[in-house]
Amino acid sequence: VLDVRGVVKVFGDNAVLRGVDLAVGEHQVVALIGGSGSGKSTLLRCASLLETVDDGQVLLDGEDVTDPRIDADQVRRRMGVVFQAYNLFPHLSVLDNVTLAPTVVHGRPKAEVRDEAMALLTRIGLAEKAGEYPDRLSGGQQQRVAIVRALAVRPRVLLLDEITSALDPELVGEVLAVVREVAAQGMTIVMATHEMGFARQVADTVAFLDGGVVLESGPPQQVLGDPVEARTRQFLSRVI
Ligand code: ATP
Ligand code: MG
Repeated sequence: VLDVRGVVKVFGDNAVLRGVDLAVGEHQVVALIGGSGSGKSTLLRCASLLETVDDGQVLLDGEDVTDPRIDADQVRRRMGVVFQAYNLFPHLSVLDNVTLAPTVVHGRPKAEVRDEAMALLTRIGLAEKAGEYPDRLSGGQQQRVAIVRALAVRPRVLLLDEITSALDPELVGEVLAVVREVAAQGMTIVMATHEMGFARQVADTVAFLDGGVVLESGPPQQVLGDPVEARTRQFLSRVI
C-alpha cells in the first residue's frame, strides 16, 4: 500500500532522514519507534505530503506521490492522519467534524455520509456526543473522534503520530482500543508510538528509526524481544 524508498529530509544542516526505506503492505500495522528527534513525525509528514522530500520516493499503491507533477491534494485525500493533539476543528460539532471532508472534499451525499459517521461514532461509543463541540469532550474522546474522522474518508492508509502521548494515562487505553479495533477490521496503519506494549500486541512490524534510517525492522517479538542492533537494545533499555 505504502512504500517509502530512500527518503531524505534535511532541515538546514540537520539531515533528519538519510534514506529511509519502509514498506507497508495491505492490512499491515507498522509501529514506528525511535528516540525523541529521530524523525518519526518527519517521516509521517513526508509520507502524508505535509512535507516535501529532498530525495527518494513515497509510493501509494504503486504511484509515486512525491512526483512534483502529482496533485498533492488528491493524494492526501487517500490518507488519514491523526496527530498527538488538537486534531478536531473546535468550531464544529463532533458530527460535523467527521462529515466535513467526506461531503465537502469528496463530494459524497450528505445523508449517506451522516449515516456512516453515526455508525462509526456508535462503534466507539460516542454517538450521544455527535452534537457536542470538541471542548466538551475529554482528550481521549477527542482522539477517538479524530480517528473516526480520519476513517470517514475511507483512506487507503492511516498514519498515527503519537496519538496517545498528550493524554492522561487513564485515557490512553480507550484510544488504543479503537486503534486495535480499526486494525482488526483490516485497516493499513503506520503509527509512531512510545507504547511498546501496544506495539508488541498490535503491530505486525516494528521499525526502529535511528540515525536517519530504519536501522532494524521485523516482527515485534524479534525487534522488541531480541534485537540485532546494539542501538536498538540501548533504546529499548531506556524506554521499557
Ligand atoms: P518525538 O519522539 O519527540 O516526537 P520525532 O522522532 O517525531 O520525535 P521529529 O519531530 O521528526 O522527531 O524531529 C526530527 C528532527 O527534525 C528534530 O531534530 C527536529 O528538531 C527537526 N525538525 C522537525 N521539523 C522541523 C522543521 N519544520 N524545521 C526544522 N527542523 C525540524
Ligand atoms: Mg514526533
